[in-house]
Amino acid sequence: MERRAKIMATLGPASRDEGVLRELVRAGVDLVRLNLSHGTQEQHRETLLRVRRVAAEERCHLPVVLDLMGPRYRLGQIPDEPRLLAPGQEVVLGPESSGAELPVDSGIVEHLAAGERVLIDGGLIELKIESKAGDRVRARVVNGGPVRTRKGINLPDSALPFEISDKDRSDVAFAVAENADYLAASYVGEAAHLEAVRAVVTAAGGRIPIIAKIERATAIEHLAEIAEAADGLMVARGDLGVEVPLYQVPVLQKKIVAAGRLAGKPVIVATQMLESMIEQPRPTRAEATDVANAVLDGADVLMLSGETAAGQYPVAVVQTMARIVQEAEDYAGQSSERHTLQPLGHVHARRTFEMEPDGHAADDELALEVPDMVSAAAVYAAEQLRVSRIVAFSQRGFTARLVARYRPRSPIMAFTPDERVARQIQLVWGVRPFVAELQVGSLDDIVQVVERELLAAQLVKPGERILILMGHPVRERPLTNLMRVHRIRGA
Ligand code: PGA
Ligand code: MN
Repeated sequence: MERRAKIMATLGPASRDEGVLRELVRAGVDLVRLNLSHGTQEQHRETLLRVRRVAAEERCHLPVVLDLMGPRYRLGQIPDEPRLLAPGQEVVLGPESSGAELPVDSGIVEHLAAGERVLIDGGLIELKIESKAGDRVRARVVNGGPVRTRKGINLPDSALPFEISDKDRSDVAFAVAENADYLAASYVGEAAHLEAVRAVVTAAGGRIPIIAKIERATAIEHLAEIAEAADGLMVARGDLGVEVPLYQVPVLQKKIVAAGRLAGKPVIVATQMLESMIEQPRPTRAEATDVANAVLDGADVLMLSGETAAGQYPVAVVQTMARIVQEAEDYAGQSSERHTLQPLGHVHARRTFEMEPDGHAADDELALEVPDMVSAAAVYAAEQLRVSRIVAFSQRGFTARLVARYRPRSPIMAFTPDERVARQIQLVWGVRPFVAELQVGSLDDIVQVVERELLAAQLVKPGERILILMGHPVRERPLTNLMRVHRIRGA
């Protein structure tokens, strides 16, 4: 079987080289992420150009996700680093870089209150705030250790505003100028935060779908509304495991994946998936199991971070992941416990996604009943008839996404005229893009074109059955309302 879950590689010093990029693609990378928390726009622009070049050479649709830093707090400059904090010790957090004070970004302190925790360096160091006076707080060290300049701070108990920094605004403008395929929004806590990011994108003159990174406790409380507002979700286990108790992360992963699937939005599972391969050529058994379980949870995409950005074995890690995914999917395809979902039914989707049909109702809501029911019926029919491919004609990839929601056994081909949609649809489980002009002709003409294209690409063989989904009549661009089963005849 072809692999269905996608692999996303974060690019960095270990993988920016064009030769390595090419090998990553050949090893199975479907999407790349540039983390804007690191590096300069100049560097990212160069990387982006290389990605586009390699994608063109390798004839693949390789989308680029630009990951915004978001409201991330950090320590300031620590002159005598590393400064060792001992349990029970009292520390002052404030604006000063000198003396015994721990310097924090200006603006943090006003949101802090006594009794709240301050976590430093991925939660390794924990402080508890005891009192506040002016622009300083006094805190007691609970878990100690060395602290260094610019280490990240998480404030899981504090009521933090969602402010879009000048850096994020500039990075959004950069993403628009560079035609990024997706943005990822860090630390969103509710749908309104996502809309705020979307407003910045719109003001910058762009239209980029946005992935909501679920990495704060408040985001868990607002999961359903975020899933509806976002174009995709990320289980951002790195920060999530600091912001909520670590032992909740495995179950939250399942809940976030389920929320995305229910809403028909792709979900990425991220962080430390094959972490030990940063330094070693083989993963731990626990990591291999984690990758397989993310597949069985129903994730659309598995993400690599440091493993491909800064590790010693960027290509081997992708090969390893692809292999584990394949084994898990072979098992899931045979087992009786397959994911089934009810049709969306009367649910209306808000018009947020880039991948949506245009030229339809101008209102905010998009009636999904017909395309969704046709997709559900198509997946059922594909199963019974054992069709080798489901072909979804899709201006914006929307139908392909609806079909993928039902996790069919047959691979999904998204026929779209738009290169950008072809890249964006790579985020979705089991969907392979195929750029083709939408033919305006009789149904039989269209079927012939599909047959010819698939045969030429060696994606079908004579005698196989395929199932085609489309909106007909094409020239009126209706939502998907038609399903056609066709046996490939061949030349
Ligand atoms: P990051 O997001 O790597 O940008 O922090 C992912 C995570 O927090 O897991
Ligand atoms: Mn994060």
